[in-house]
Amino acid sequence: MSSSAAAVSEFSNPNLEPLFSSEQIQARVSEMGAEIARDYAGQRPLLVGVLKGAYIFLSDLVRATDLRLGVEFMAISSYGAAMRSSGEVRIVKDLDVPVDGRDILIVEDIVDTGLTLSFLIGSLHQRGARTVRLAALLDKFERREREVRIDYCGFQIPDAFVVGYGLDFDERYRNLPYIAVIKDPSLKD
Ligand code: 5GP
Repeated sequence: MSSSAAAVSEFSNPNLEPLFSSEQIQARVSEMGAEIARDYAGQRPLLVGVLKGAYIFLSDLVRATDLRLGVEFMAISSYGAAMRSSGEVRIVKDLDVPVDGRDILIVEDIVDTGLTLSFLIGSLHQRGARTVRLAALLDKFERREREVRIDYCGFQIPDAFVVGYGLDFDERYRNLPYIAVIKDPSLKD
């Protein structure tokens, strides 16, 4: 460590307004995992995590789900550095395995307009998945443009841009252990 600058905490950045604590998230994710394990008892679902935002949620969710399951990832074009969806949906990284006849559980960080999820659910059905369900940590329901059924929902949130627990703002804040609203998006430091 050669930097002479005073240590600045990223986790207690004053531009962040905490929304859900790490403890609240862990408690809710445990409940979701138990519910999923109950619903899929005797089945072998394939959990499809949507990169990158869902990676922390997925890693906690699978450890709360006592079930024989598989994990795969997809990446869908997203906001990039912007805070609003462009409305354009594109697969950036596809699955490495076929899904025909499989019970798929999509694991997503947040459902906003619903454009990404309605596209993804349709695409997995088209490929012959037996069932397709959705687990989303956050539901920004006020902004919905496409109807999306969230089978397992962590929390409903108001229309605000949130970061942390895997969610980023221009690749920053994914490592926050909690979820926060950015107070002033124009502040870069
Ligand atoms: P949708 O297609 O539902 O509009 O957008 C879903 C994607 O937009 C999410 O997977 C996420 O990548 C991004 N997104 C939507 N709202 C937020 C937010 O408040 N914070 C962050 N970091 N990403 C968001």
